[in-house]
Amino acid sequence: MKDAKQEISELIEAKKELFTDAADEIWGTPETRFAVEKSVQPYYRILEKEGFSLEKGVAHMQHSFVTTYGSGKPVIGILAEYDALANLSQVADLGEQKAEVPGGNGQGCGHNLLGTGALTAAVGIKDYMEKEKLEGTIKLFGCPAEESGYGKAFMARDGVFDDIDCALAWHPMDMNAAWATSSLAVYQCYYHFKGASAHAAAAPEQGRSALDAAELMNTGVQFLREHIIDEGRIHYAFIDAGGESANVVQPSATLYYFVRAPKIEQAKAIFDRVNKVAEGAAMMTETELETKFDSACYNYVPNQAITGAIHENLKEHGSLQLTDEDQSYAKRYYDTLTDEVKESLIERARNLAPEADEKEIQRLGTLPITEQIAPLVFSEETSGSTDVGDVSWVCPTGQVLIGCEPQGVAPHSWQWVANGKSSVAHKGLLAAGKTLATTAYDLLTQPELLEKAKEEHKKQLNGKKYQSAIPADVYPE
Ligand SMILES: [Zn+2]
Repeated sequence: MKDAKQEISELIEAKKELFTDAADEIWGTPETRFAVEKSVQPYYRILEKEGFSLEKGVAHMQHSFVTTYGSGKPVIGILAEYDALANLSQVADLGEQKAEVPGGNGQGCGHNLLGTGALTAAVGIKDYMEKEKLEGTIKLFGCPAEESGYGKAFMARDGVFDDIDCALAWHPMDMNAAWATSSLAVYQCYYHFKGASAHAAAAPEQGRSALDAAELMNTGVQFLREHIIDEGRIHYAFIDAGGESANVVQPSATLYYFVRAPKIEQAKAIFDRVNKVAEGAAMMTETELETKFDSACYNYVPNQAITGAIHENLKEHGSLQLTDEDQSYAKRYYDTLTDEVKESLIERARNLAPEADEKEIQRLGTLPITEQIAPLVFSEETSGSTDVGDVSWVCPTGQVLIGCEPQGVAPHSWQWVANGKSSVAHKGLLAAGKTLATTAYDLLTQPELLEKAKEEHKKQLNGKKYQSAIPADVYPE
């Protein structure tokens, strides 16, 4: 008899063009934040044809969706993203930076692959359930604005994930690993200062400078930085600096702030202090302060039981099956790395293969696309933020990283956009789909695995209930 997971992988292979064509289509219509109207269309088309029921526009987001297949317990959630980044337009497959549309958007975080890899997993496990008449429910969530805005945080606030038993997700990366680290919680807010304009030389006493207020806020926050926890991060951008005339007292200025920390309570504590600094700046300059809460998301906590299952399935079913052509294609991106990064890749290869001889380490460390899989080691280490964080506080959640991006190249880069329609990228989304679909199979057929995951999640919540960090009167925009 054929192995079930082997069969799931074969069912995915049989439809692979459906998924890779959708990924290429989404690459070609890069849209940001909540305005992902074109990027969501391939999902609607495919899911309806594949027999999923479809609910469009959940949690006050026009281009979000929830799609369902099957019935009864357990209910397995899979998370899809499809938003792009501003100013990252790039010609596909080119080994140097060149915008396809100057100033245009680009899929710099590989979400064209991320979303369609999640779709691959949902359709793959659905096909197997249909064939074997397997009990259970699969839900695929279409989540806009992962990059900024955090669609999943709004969906979590509105209870969209309340009826799922667990959630699965993935991200393209330059390495293969079950995702065993955390992410930073974040608060995002706009600070708008309103002053009074006046002739800067003839009547300066009549002016109240909003630009001064913004500068004082930044200065105050600069001093605040010394008195927060080491892991805290505060970033800012000028959205409006008042104007271009230096002989006018600037009547308006707007700053956009991100406040991050390993835990949501820590981020909130720093955010409250940043708000006080803003109020102080307004008081000093006799300007008016208007704050506009943008969004917030929780730190991610990997569920170890589910992540462990993902790790096993990654090893068995997540291979990219790379060819020499794939490596020679991706060398154009490897060649753009600095010597320092190239050296760090040799170190990484050595750490991942402590038993390998020097020749093999040199080979592995200079491969444009990695062949290695990281061992499963859970750590409190954090880096950026992801709105999967909120989902991980609603239900047990596991994620996988698939090494379909060039080694050493960071996300949000032109190289990731250029690589986004390549054979390697396609293999990546299929490998992700197989890893998640086989993990969904484990969760559908091993009640004890899900039980263990839920026990662990209960401990994580420590008697508390998830409560969104986004105020009730803030809506996605
Ligand atoms: Zn991303």
